[in-house]
Amino acid sequence: MDNAGFSEKPQDTPSTSGEDIPEALRDTPDAAPKVSIRPLILIIGGVVGVALIAVVSGFLFFVVAPKKAKDSQPSPLSSTPATPSKAGNSATSKENIVLGHFSYTEASESELQPISNDRRIKMRKAAAQKFLEMAAAARSAGAVLVPISGFRSIKDQEQLFFTVGAQRNQTPAQRAAVSAPPGHSEHHTGYAVDIGDAAARATDLNPNFEKTKAYQWLQANAARFGFEMSFPRDNVQGVSYEPWHWRFVGDRDSLETFYKAKNLKPAQIQSTPQ
Ligand SMILES: [Zn+2]
Repeated sequence: MDNAGFSEKPQDTPSTSGEDIPEALRDTPDAAPKVSIRPLILIIGGVVGVALIAVVSGFLFFVVAPKKAKDSQPSPLSSTPATPSKAGNSATSKENIVLGHFSYTEASESELQPISNDRRIKMRKAAAQKFLEMAAAARSAGAVLVPISGFRSIKDQEQLFFTVGAQRNQTPAQRAAVSAPPGHSEHHTGYAVDIGDAAARATDLNPNFEKTKAYQWLQANAARFGFEMSFPRDNVQGVSYEPWHWRFVGDRDSLETFYKAKNLKPAQIQSTPQ
């Protein structure tokens, strides 16, 4: 796609500046040995001068920068990497991807609000309010959305990933196709929710959920409440299709949580044309 870069190279060949200098140096003494004594002196003087400057500046460098030198093994390069590594703590750089899952900041308890009748399933407040609104709207349209799982702590996710993975004899790569590694689940952001259909609980956490009325309703209406499916078919993260897993992206914080610096292009995300 970037072939244009190669076609520009011929511009370099005619000049071949690297070979010009040695030829010039040899030609001058051969062609005019006696006449060019003064130029020779100038050249020699110039070379010596340059050498002196190099030596002096090198000496000055040692004098001025000895303390930095110890740190400076990384520092000549580190001016660029150091900044991203600090900024990268906000979990946005590519280094924070594990087995296709991005890392996210964990929501604190005080930011959560219940979304289930037993109050055990929670989401971050803005998401929780919109989820309840959405569930009410769905209900009035004849689809009953059931929250199956909302906020899960990183510790919960550790149990889900490693313990359940071991029970099922899954390698990390196999496990990551169906469950995010701890620290990398959307569930601990407080913005993600697994949704079931009250009329078809057998499809809970199952791709067949896409056949339910709840799913059909979500597909048609969830965006109005700030929700989107995280893992549609053929998603760029390579996570398996999860029609039941939805995330809130309806305010600035949630939007930035999922999209900032991830370089996900809208065209790739909108895999289901409407
Ligand atoms: Zn989920």
